[in-house]
Amino acid sequence: MYNVAQVLEEKCVAKKGCRLCIMYCPEANCLDLNVTKMVAEVNINRCKGCELCVVVCNAAKHNAIEMQAVSASGKLMSHKGESAALGQAYQG
Ligand code: SF4
Ligand code: SF4
Repeated sequence: MYNVAQVLEEKCVAKKGCRLCIMYCPEANCLDLNVTKMVAEVNINRCKGCELCVVVCNAAKHNAIEMQAVSASGKLMSHKGESAALGQAYQG
């Protein structure tokens, strides 16, 4: 099990022009703008779990990214977008 970044869509302000996490993510094709939803979106298959996106998003006081556990098979242990996700990011 390892951790990947997940954007909390209800908190992301990409629709207002924020692209901080996208600019800072060191992995190519990992963090991108979902132009349909206008929120930042993590490709969990590319995320290396460095948490840089969390740092820059929190530094800008958006707090819209959290790390979530992923199983060995690559499945999120809890689904993004659930309102219960906050505070339940780590499940072991
Ligand atoms: S830094 Fe945070 S608020 Fe800005 S686009 Fe990324 S997830 Fe959204
Ligand atoms: S944790 Fe690192 S690799 Fe993963 S999305 Fe954030 S900045 Fe990119």
